[in-house]
Amino acid sequence: MFKVENITKRYNENTVPLQGLSTEINKGDVISLIGPSGTGKSTFLRCLNMLDPPTEGKIYFNGEDITDPKYDLTKLRKRVGMVFQSFNLFNHMTVIENIAEPQIKLLGRGRQEAFDKGMDLLGRVGLRDKPFFYPAQLSGGQKQRVAIARAMAMDPEMLLMDEPTSALDPTMVGEVEMTIRDLATTGVTMMIVTHNMEFAEEISNRIFYMDQGIIYEDGTPEEIFKNPKKPRTIEFIKKQQKLEFEIRGKEYDFPGMTTTVSELILRTRSYGLPWQHGELVMDELLNAILVPALDQPDILLSVECDKNDLWICADYNGERLDLAEKFRDKDSGDPFPRTATALIRAFSDRADYAYKPAEPRANCLRLHIV
Ligand code: ADP
Repeated sequence: MFKVENITKRYNENTVPLQGLSTEINKGDVISLIGPSGTGKSTFLRCLNMLDPPTEGKIYFNGEDITDPKYDLTKLRKRVGMVFQSFNLFNHMTVIENIAEPQIKLLGRGRQEAFDKGMDLLGRVGLRDKPFFYPAQLSGGQKQRVAIARAMAMDPEMLLMDEPTSALDPTMVGEVEMTIRDLATTGVTMMIVTHNMEFAEEISNRIFYMDQGIIYEDGTPEEIFKNPKKPRTIEFIKKQQKLEFEIRGKEYDFPGMTTTVSELILRTRSYGLPWQHGELVMDELLNAILVPALDQPDILLSVECDKNDLWICADYNGERLDLAEKFRDKDSGDPFPRTATALIRAFSDRADYAYKPAEPRANCLRLHIV
């Protein structure tokens, strides 16, 4: 459907977000575009529908060169829909008018047909009762669902979505993701920029990992998320499932840390993991054991998760202090509060310890949470 040949986008000497990107997109593909911010994901999307044409290179859509100045871009606009972060609805029009207008203008449909189509799609996105509302009367999640219905009303061959949930209140992300998940099963070709890796994994047949202006690695969700091959992809995927907190001194923001952990849970949607036990272990390990035990605490606490496993890890300074041994053995005569060690013993089935004297935080403890 799309063939992209070596495209470059140059805004100025120092801003070259696309640096020779090539790929092919096939009919029926559902592609998630992931990668660090600033690597050209949005720019790539805008190039594909020529909202922002590439500086160099060629893009073919169904065999036609859309970068050719002689190409009639309305042809492309009729077939490729776009959903933006910020909805881009017309505020002076009702919901149904917003959906009908482009069908009438671009496709030449009659009013009745356009309205019927609009009502049909409003039903599909769960807004059958809102056709005569104005955008200002809707929540962010509802506005984005209208924007999706508007794009779908054009019967696009392909839908491009640029972080469609990023401007939404967290409580509304789910409803929009559900709508997109539903669309992904209808056979429409889709490309979506997203930061939600679990969502990407669930809906896509292909993942493009973008880094520094190219598609650095392209594969199935299984390949990219479970078995990435190239170093920058491996590093990126690992980082997505990991949180790190540096604790220097006796003062630190424990509630802030637990909030950040909650955000990780939402982002990775790994609700099945024993997070509450993880939080208790984090609490006891830091507040009852490590911080009181160290004169000048210098601790790197990390929370790592993947589908089935949750680990709480701590690298800490000071003399050799093998906490794993103390958690394992009830009778090791540990000097720490009993409830703390008992809780950690109860909620971790595996404790690994390593001593790395050359490192400033020489003690490395990993606890597998159950
Ligand atoms: P991503 O979507 O991966 O976060 P973007 O494509 O939004 O990345 O941006 C890539 C780079 O291009 C950024 O450095 C951004 O500031 C720059 N950029 C994007 N759009 C423009 C523009 N219209 N003018 C100048 N620079 C831009």
